[in-house]
Amino acid sequence: MEESPKYERRKIGIVICESENVNVEALKYFILTLNKLQTIFEYQLLPYDRKNRMLQILSSENVRDREEVRSLVGGFVIDFREYLNKHNDEFGLIDDFPDHYVIISFVKFHDEYYSMRKNNISVIGLGYWEREMAPPTVLEFILTLIMRESIASICNPLKKSVHLGTKGCLCDFTNDLGEARYKVLIGYICDHCKNELVKDGHTNLLHEFEKLLSKEWMGKRDDPSSPAGIIKNLGFDLFCTKGFQKTAYEKFIDKLPEEAAKTFATIILTAIFTAVTTYFGIKLAK
Ligand SMILES: [Zn+2]
Repeated sequence: MEESPKYERRKIGIVICESENVNVEALKYFILTLNKLQTIFEYQLLPYDRKNRMLQILSSENVRDREEVRSLVGGFVIDFREYLNKHNDEFGLIDDFPDHYVIISFVKFHDEYYSMRKNNISVIGLGYWEREMAPPTVLEFILTLIMRESIASICNPLKKSVHLGTKGCLCDFTNDLGEARYKVLIGYICDHCKNELVKDGHTNLLHEFEKLLSKEWMGKRDDPSSPAGIIKNLGFDLFCTKGFQKTAYEKFIDKLPEEAAKTFATIILTAIFTAVTTYFGIKLAK
């Protein structure tokens, strides 16, 4: 009898801490697109447990001690698995526990770092994100950090940051968000990190992540079937929205298709040109 194929991707559980600041629908969609674009990891969104001590701290609006969060990691895994078990039992679902958890929060860490890793837990803290840090958009930023944490979860030599210089490499050591933007904008994996991935048996991961980092898969905002178009319809424009949510101006521009936006700009420029030439024409006639 022919053996049926077994699919065994590494499971990454994502927990998003509650925040009114972020377009969660667009973020969730963006994260789940990763499942179709690569074959190494399977990402799953997990429910938020309001009673969990660590998640409560990470949902806080106050500045929090990163080491305090680190000290709660062990308890988190036990409590959270119990929480998931309870839900599985209640609805008769299979146990499909993640191998690694990534918690996305909007907390500010006291030392202004934006991430923390311990055992099979990664915590991202985006409290210091500012509109001025765009580009890239905050959604692209989160996706890149999830990819970075995914590599840390599977490749021992790249568990920690290894090079001080900022190269625009996915594994750059950058202690603040302003500097980390380059790993998102450049989307590069440096020679050192490439070699480590290959030596550790992750050649496919390297090739698939390089394609993901190129962002070509995002498509155009005016194509409703492309990820960029779908995200636009979910209320976030990858080419225009700067902060966690759209401003009134961004909403206005977003409603215009690309051609209409160009026409709008032409009308404004023509009006300015006419006003200027009329003004000088009158002056010269005097
Ligand atoms: Zn590198």
